Amino acid sequence: MTLAEKIGQMNQLFSFEFQKPEDKDESIRKGEIGSLLFVTNPALINRFQKIAVTESRLKIPLIFGFDVIHGFHTIFPIPIGMAASWDPKMIERVQTMAAREARSVGINWTFAPMVDIARDPRWGRIAEGAGEDPFLGSAIAAAQVRGFQGDRIGAPEHLLACVKHFAGYGAPEGGRDYEAANLSDTQLYNVYLPPYKAAIDAGAGSVMSAYMDLNDIPATGNRWLLQDLLRKEWNFKGFVVSDADAVKNLQTHGFARDAYDAAVKAANAGVNLEMSLFAQTYLKNLANAVTQNQVSVKQIDDLVRPLLEAKIKLGLFENPYVDEAKVKPTFADPGTREMARVAAERSAVLLKNQNSLLPLSKAGYKKIALIGPLAVSKRDTLGSWTFAMDVDQTSTILSGIKNKLGPDTSVEYATGVQISRTLASPFDVFLNQKPAAPWTESESADELQKAVNVAKNSDIAVMVLGENQDMSGEAASRMTLDLPGRQLELLKAVAAAGKPIVLVLMNARPLDISWAEQNIPAILEAWYPGTEGGDAIANLLFGDAVPAGKLPFSWVQTSAQIPFYYSHTLSQEPDRQNQRYWEGKTGPLYRFGYGLSYTTFAYANLKLSQPEIKIGGSVEVSVEVKNTGARAGEEVVQLYIHQQAGSASRPVRELKGFERVSLAAGETKTVRFKLGPNELRYWNAGVRNWIQEAETFDVWVGGDSSTSLQSTFKVIK
Ligand code: BGC
Repeated sequence: MTLAEKIGQMNQLFSFEFQKPEDKDESIRKGEIGSLLFVTNPALINRFQKIAVTESRLKIPLIFGFDVIHGFHTIFPIPIGMAASWDPKMIERVQTMAAREARSVGINWTFAPMVDIARDPRWGRIAEGAGEDPFLGSAIAAAQVRGFQGDRIGAPEHLLACVKHFAGYGAPEGGRDYEAANLSDTQLYNVYLPPYKAAIDAGAGSVMSAYMDLNDIPATGNRWLLQDLLRKEWNFKGFVVSDADAVKNLQTHGFARDAYDAAVKAANAGVNLEMSLFAQTYLKNLANAVTQNQVSVKQIDDLVRPLLEAKIKLGLFENPYVDEAKVKPTFADPGTREMARVAAERSAVLLKNQNSLLPLSKAGYKKIALIGPLAVSKRDTLGSWTFAMDVDQTSTILSGIKNKLGPDTSVEYATGVQISRTLASPFDVFLNQKPAAPWTESESADELQKAVNVAKNSDIAVMVLGENQDMSGEAASRMTLDLPGRQLELLKAVAAAGKPIVLVLMNARPLDISWAEQNIPAILEAWYPGTEGGDAIANLLFGDAVPAGKLPFSWVQTSAQIPFYYSHTLSQEPDRQNQRYWEGKTGPLYRFGYGLSYTTFAYANLKLSQPEIKIGGSVEVSVEVKNTGARAGEEVVQLYIHQQAGSASRPVRELKGFERVSLAAGETKTVRFKLGPNELRYWNAGVRNWIQEAETFDVWVGGDSSTSLQSTFKVIK
């Protein structure tokens, strides 16, 4: 390979629908492009590929990347929702199916999973991850890698995974997307890095470097992150792609003097592939950098090799093309839609259910009022990071409820309010989409009154409130967690009509629903549930499915409490620590791991296999869980630990085990967990390493992070 050909392999370009494909032909022919992203049309993929493998000198195939985040054609619930299922096996299956659909059009590589820990829900990308906890996040990260990649890179009908955004991108100051993250090594090693490590140990073939500064050094130019940690400490053998234009942006950071310097710094840090909107910093500058001896040929070789290896492993040299005839049957597979429904049911979280208002009896109501714009919005039901789906095929909550009920029940719908933001999201602007025009004052008043009348005229009201899908995701941070627009006013006005209300929430972050928690009898968190969302939510509302999801984050009362997470340390007696705000309790509205069912569970007989273990040894924890209600259900059994003393203050509780179990009415099961060195060690700032200490540990097992069933064991030398 010539130097220019090597550098060409290090260049990845967006190809958007609004661009003319021919514009890229000549560059591909000249070997200046190693990868394209955002092409989803199989004929176009084959067209580009044909130029690469028949008309370029070396005939190296292109690798096609795309954000397959929670589905491709069939959309599954938004990732934070799937995390609420606490069901890694299901998540693995979902990503297997998503991979199959994407691969059928010729995509080889997904920019997922996003494994960034999020402890500030103002940050809109909390939607794309697994929430606040490193243990849950690690299990879900690994499951997603297995789902996307199969048992090896290059498994048929699978994709190469890309774990992102390395690292600390989930901790931007103020929750403002792209903002600097300032994280101590203790926080990095104990909280933010474990899901990356888990994804890499599960075999993730690529890593995306993040946009922001980590402790003042941009992640995309950060040698410590990309070399010392990723390659040397973790032995990562795949390749690193920059986030979009993050190489060029090194200049924006005030880290690189110009584009040339940016290319030099990213290459020296270890970015193998530059993802570029238009900049092509590598392509334009790296040859010069080699001439100037600022990047060596050996370095270029080391950067290119893993890129070529990935193409070989993916089988692209043998099978560069995609069989266009397979797309339709793959998309039409009813198993995928079925899985989308099951995933949405398993992800929902029942937050409140006073006097067992839910499930609703199918025959019990003659007239149901359905209120709120999200109940009929197909686009919002799908959530952010969905581009290649068929929106029309989405089941909305209105259609889901109507399908479920017979002709004797009438469902009357009213919009009530519009949820709009003053600006279109930067994404919408980029894709040239404008928000719908807002209503006039009098239209607003009319619509709100119409909804109240519909409620008055019915036996029960189901209200679907929350955020528009584009209020979370990239560049979609919020200043408050209020129900946006006039939704609270609508909720209060409908509540005043005096009919029972079920509140269904569609959103990807905790919202300030304190008023609803006090005044509305039933609240179901549906997230953005995806293609089959409406049917799934109807199943849950009418008892054909039983909710069992649990919150993957602490649901704060208000944005002013942020950051808040359950695994904090304690520096005052608990009663003092719990009374620090003038306005109310210190804690969240709903705790981490919380979620109700239509049945109830009781825990008993927490047992440890031995009272003492040696450092490095393991103890088995067992507990009996009984379904004490009258119907079958599932429970997420959770295990938390606390190290009572040692050479650092340790969190009051840390999740170290969980299992979702299914129990018939009256059934009891014994659930077992193992606690060994991996669960009992932590990274200690004093010794700057992982340590395990000979100390006493508390263990709790139960249905959420506040469970009281407790025992202790000792670790000895
Ligand atoms: C996002 C990445 C994404 C990439 C390609 C970037 O703006 O931060 O998560 O994979 O775009 O769409």
